[in-house]
Amino acid sequence: MEYLGINTLRFDVKKCTGCGMCVIVCPHRVFKMQGKKAAPAWKDKCIECGACKSNCAFGAIEVDAGPGCAAAVLAAKFGGKNVCCE
Ligand code: SF4
Ligand code: SF4
Repeated sequence: MEYLGINTLRFDVKKCTGCGMCVIVCPHRVFKMQGKKAAPAWKDKCIECGACKSNCAFGAIEVDAGPGCAAAVLAAKFGGKNVCCE
């Protein structure tokens, strides 16, 4: 499973069944459907909340949830950004 960019998000397209759950649950719309598979089209927007991993029943997504989310919350608190970590 490959790291995608500036965060810990990893995606294995071979395991993806195209169920679409990651597209639905991601608060930052990181994934989109591309044909019959998901694609991490906006991977650098990931805040490592873990929702996609928790909702992918096929093990196609890995992310080290926690630190990134905490950092995002702090950034929101001190930087005035609107961050969702649900
Ligand atoms: S939740 Fe998993 S199996 Fe479903 S579309 Fe996303 S990556 Fe593919
Ligand atoms: S960890 Fe959260 S923000 Fe990142 S891709 Fe998954 S659902 Fe989206």
